[in-house]
Amino acid sequence: MKNTKTAEAALSILKEGNKKYISSDVPSGDISRAIRERTAEAGQSPHTVVITCSDSRVIPECIFSAGIGELFVIRVAGNVIDRHALGSIEYAADHLGSRLVVVLGHTHCGAVGAAMHHEAGGFVKSITDEIQSAIGGETDELRACEKNVLNSVSVIESALSDAVGDFTVVAAIYDIKSGEVTFL
Ligand SMILES: [Zn+2]
Repeated sequence: MKNTKTAEAALSILKEGNKKYISSDVPSGDISRAIRERTAEAGQSPHTVVITCSDSRVIPECIFSAGIGELFVIRVAGNVIDRHALGSIEYAADHLGSRLVVVLGHTHCGAVGAAMHHEAGGFVKSITDEIQSAIGGETDELRACEKNVLNSVSVIESALSDAVGDFTVVAAIYDIKSGEVTFL
């Protein structure tokens, strides 16, 4: 069973879900036993792929009031794109029918901050080097976050150019204080 929702329909579901999240203190996605059993039997058909940061304050299913089987989520610090992420996107688009890909950055991202201040070492540097090349000398933190997500969008679009058309890639920023998602 593949997803049949268009990118446009998926985007409006996400926007509505985010409004619901902001106006309520309780997560409202369907995580019932019934949906768990149904998706275990019938398989998954997520309408959207979300690529976001590992930051513990960013919880995609809650942010969009989504439940089991709705979001195909890829998480890595700084929401940078590597070959594994590309493979995951390709899989969701080809085999699960996902038509919308959202790169979701967030305010006060530690990975972006570390890239701005050149303070990473070890394996973390492989992440901040990627972010650094996307943000250049940007000194405004929010603007740097936006440049970073826009870079991830263009990495996806150029690597998967044959498939773009089958799915739509959009950039968004999550405000970790207000809970609001702004699509760029
Ligand atoms: Zn982050």
